[in-house]
Amino acid sequence: MNDAYDIAIVGSGFAGSLLAMIAHQLGRSVILLEKNRHPRFAIGESSTPLSNILLETLATRYDLPGIAPLSKWGSWQQTYPNVASGLKRGFTFYHHVLGEPRASDPDRQHQLLVAASPHDRIADTHWYRAEVDHLFVKEAQKLGVQYLDEVTLQSVTESEKEIRLKGRRNNEDFSVGATFVVDATGPRGFLHHALALQESPLPGFPATQALFSHFTGAARFAEQISGQDSELPPYPVDDAAVHHIFDGGWIWVLQFNNGITSAGVAATDELAGRLQLSEGPAAWQRLLDLIPALKNQFANFEAIQPFTYMPRVSFRSNAVAGKRWTLLPSAAGFVDPLLSTGFPLTLLGVSRLAEIIECAWDKPEFIARVQSYASLTDNELLAAAGLIGALYGMMGRFSAFAALSMLYFAPASFSESARRLGKAHLASSFLLHDDPHFGPLMRRCCELAKSNSTQLEMDNLAHEISQAIEPINIAGFANPHRRNWYPVDANDLLNSAAKLQSTKNQISELLDRSGFWK
Ligand SMILES: Cc1cc2nc3c(=O)[nH]c(=O)nc-3n(C[C@H](O)[C@H](O)[C@H](O)COP(=O)(O)OP(=O)(O)OC[C@H]3O[C@@H](n4cnc5c(N)ncnc54)[C@H](O)[C@@H]3O)c2cc1C
Repeated sequence: MNDAYDIAIVGSGFAGSLLAMIAHQLGRSVILLEKNRHPRFAIGESSTPLSNILLETLATRYDLPGIAPLSKWGSWQQTYPNVASGLKRGFTFYHHVLGEPRASDPDRQHQLLVAASPHDRIADTHWYRAEVDHLFVKEAQKLGVQYLDEVTLQSVTESEKEIRLKGRRNNEDFSVGATFVVDATGPRGFLHHALALQESPLPGFPATQALFSHFTGAARFAEQISGQDSELPPYPVDDAAVHHIFDGGWIWVLQFNNGITSAGVAATDELAGRLQLSEGPAAWQRLLDLIPALKNQFANFEAIQPFTYMPRVSFRSNAVAGKRWTLLPSAAGFVDPLLSTGFPLTLLGVSRLAEIIECAWDKPEFIARVQSYASLTDNELLAAAGLIGALYGMMGRFSAFAALSMLYFAPASFSESARRLGKAHLASSFLLHDDPHFGPLMRRCCELAKSNSTQLEMDNLAHEISQAIEPINIAGFANPHRRNWYPVDANDLLNSAAKLQSTKNQISELLDRSGFWK
């Protein structure tokens, strides 16, 4: 082990390992430090179309052939059949009233199905993080990244020349100097404690708690609702990130191909208190008892992982970077698992830091570029918090919730397509929050939703939302004729070519190139 590295990355979740690989490919000397030992349990499992194009782009740009297959279900299954994953064809939502049986839903007023891919081969995935993160770290080591696990870091000190980390490993003291440190240890992680950083509030987001585990024995939700609709849904409803929404909270259910299901609940303090989430398994059973369809789905469940109770889910650091250090977005903040915003925010951050290392390392503008990364990171967190906070407020009014969710789906699908067309500049910020047209409208709609309006005002809100997304709506969202089922339809994209500053021909080529046709 050297004593002086260009970059020390603390935390070997997929993001720390990925950035370590990229920095190594860019010629930097890198050390990756981990307090645990892989394989180990980690939460945060569901990818999205935007995260997958970001991962694919990074793997191509920085020559990481071992990582590229993870950006699609088909290539993953072909290359890594033994690394567990789940098929994610879209975002599934069902609305419930706690304590009441599920009513029949002929007009689909209590469900929302948003497809993310037209077929399995190019679909998104749920990452069984124990195995996926292990794969990432093994790839990093293969490339030549110096990796130390089971370290206990005790201090960090900065001088004119370097930043130094001290700790213990195998009962021995060690010390590592680096020019720059990246903290990839997650919320309230290493630098948060070592530098005594403070927490800042997340305006517009309620205080929430969570409880989750991994289970065997869960059935498919489709079996609980079969025969309720004469049409076939746009994709099998369980091959998705399944969200069960109720006033004050929601449950996620993600199914892996190894028989394991990840499930958990996030709820406002008020509901979490009523459910007594801090009691763990008993609270989980109490919650299932209030949702008969889910109780049936989990009739034979066994938790194979101790329940994790999070007394506070959201987090925002008051500082994201210093002269010789920065936090990855996943260490700088977190809002909520709703809508799987963690991966894309983290991967946007990895992409930005990669570019800074590539273009500005050793240059006078390096620190200013890192500071600019820090403010983008914080602004994106705030944008996600604003939208998800508004969605929390609407969990008891599903039609408004579904309307509001279009403020996520429209910019997310626009951003993915822009990037696939090589036009990332059309969608440089998460949820297009800094787009001069869409950004303010999105914020206005979220504010309106929070004002606890009458039904009439809610109808107007739905109208405002559909107007707000119109210039970026490339997938037929907010169309009442679709009755809350949104398949992926090539014609929507072809007819929206101009919105993406492209021709129909270019869209057609994109569809061919990205394997759209089965
Ligand atoms: C309940 C929940 C559900 C979520 N669901 C989703 C989802 O479905 N989709 C999504 O996109 N995002 C989700 N997220 C967010 C997601 O977890 C993060 O975006 C993602 O894990 C970030 O990955 P990472 O590699 O940066 O960090 P992490 O996965 O947090 O990894 C951090 C690593 O650092 C190590 N470490 C910690 N402290 C130290 C230390 N002091 N020294 C050395 N090493 C240390 C840890 O052992 C770990 O290996 C969820 C988050 C939560 C809390």
